[in-house]
Amino acid sequence: MPTLGDKSEIWKFLLDSSSIVLTTHVRPDGDGIASELALYMILHSHGKEVYIVNQDKTPEMYSWLPEAGRIISLSQNQSLDIDSIDLTLLIDCSSQNRIGNVYDLVKNSNHIISLDHHEGNDCFRDYCYIDTTASSIGELLFSIVPDIGRYLNKEIAACLYVSIMTDTGSFAYSNTTGNVLLIASRLIEYGLNPDQIYKMIYNRKRITHFRLLGRTLQLMETDESGKVVWVLLPLSVYSDTGAVEEDTEGILEVIRGLKGLELIILLRQLDSEWMKCSLRSINSIDCSHLARIFNGGGHFKAAGFVIKGNVEVSGRSIVANIMEEAKGRGWL
Ligand code: 5GP
Ligand code: MN
Repeated sequence: MPTLGDKSEIWKFLLDSSSIVLTTHVRPDGDGIASELALYMILHSHGKEVYIVNQDKTPEMYSWLPEAGRIISLSQNQSLDIDSIDLTLLIDCSSQNRIGNVYDLVKNSNHIISLDHHEGNDCFRDYCYIDTTASSIGELLFSIVPDIGRYLNKEIAACLYVSIMTDTGSFAYSNTTGNVLLIASRLIEYGLNPDQIYKMIYNRKRITHFRLLGRTLQLMETDESGKVVWVLLPLSVYSDTGAVEEDTEGILEVIRGLKGLELIILLRQLDSEWMKCSLRSINSIDCSHLARIFNGGGHFKAAGFVIKGNVEVSGRSIVANIMEEAKGRGWL
């Protein structure tokens, strides 16, 4: 089902509330953060009391976005101090556990609703609107906010543009539709400089990113057909290179360039307990299906999951299980 729910209901919930918390998933990405900020500014102009609360810190690459300084990150020991919350809106999250420990803070909100574009969203509380055909939440906001043009200014346009740009791989993925390009061109009219925005996001990487990239490329393994590439990254790779979580951004984009590739499996150690797997499909392998087997989720061509364990101990068997499932389905 490409859409679930009625888009006008989301806007009604927002208009009927005075104190609103916006939140997105753990390890937030450009879509989650930039669409939170765009919606923050839109709702603020309506006189709403709005807070953005995320579990994890805003990555450096997005910290220059307008109003990004307002984002409360629980992992940075920041907290939200208000008596009651009328409404919490989950943005870009397919399930309650995706917001991490923000849930404890917002669970007593009068309403909790969700706006999403992932496959397999479990609509767990009061309302959700899901459109899996939307490239990004930024694009979705164009159908959620009635007459969005009356709110647009350079700052809001920049956030919406970043949301769409980051979730379409800079307008390169198959979710780059005519509508996406129409919206992008409309946003640019507010004085945006696409070249500058791209540089601010992707061309300010730390040297540790490149050290991690080098190690990752050396560790690439492929199956006999060359259709599957996997990389297992233990914690030692991070400690040896000085890389941190954020430095992983962009690595999959490099691997994507390999000839004949159908599936990328990047499994990295997050800490002593947890591993994170990112899946990317080039053509017709359903990553969202593969990730859901491990209680994760995502989109057809980009999905992921976190799982307990050690990459060096169980990494290979996870890769084998994923490949077996893909073969069983006739995808490989
Ligand atoms: P990434 O690999 O870049 O972290 O995520 C790719 C896509 O999969 C994103 O749309 C993201 O929301 C989704 N995803 C990644 N990790 C998880 C996870 O642990 N659970 C769920 N439900 N989705 C995930
Ligand atoms: Mn998204």
